[in-house]
Amino acid sequence: MTDCLFCKIAAHEIPAKLLHEDERVVAFADINPVAPVHALIIPRRHIATIDDVLESDESDMGHLFRVASLVASSLGLGEGGYRTVMNCGADAGQSVFHVHLHVLGGKPLGWPPFPK
Ligand code: 5GP
Ligand code: ZN
Repeated sequence: MTDCLFCKIAAHEIPAKLLHEDERVVAFADINPVAPVHALIIPRRHIATIDDVLESDESDMGHLFRVASLVASSLGLGEGGYRTVMNCGADAGQSVFHVHLHVLGGKPLGWPPFPK
């Protein structure tokens, strides 16, 4: 997709601190971290939201989680653990409409992750 921020990051048209790249997914540091470690993992294919995931995307979406684990480990979260989050739509606060898995950690994280 031509006018998508995360497609542009995946294509190296907009700079980001890249953490992992392969033929299916790209990982990079979040520009506005909300935890000491905050990375994003995206599929290279433009998929707007979880609701737009096709059967043919299932392998890439599974790969996102394997890369999340690798990236978390490389960023020192292997022992303490981390949280993955994928927001979908307005109520969840999704602001970039190219699916992305947040990887958050580096301190104990509260639960639930929103005010009651
Ligand atoms: P969402 O709210 O859609 O789940 O998350 C979007 C995330 O993208 C936010 O955490 C935000 O800080 C991050 N973000 C927005 N614009 C950029 C950017 O230009 N570069 C990077 N690296 N992250 C971005
Ligand atoms: Zn995109």
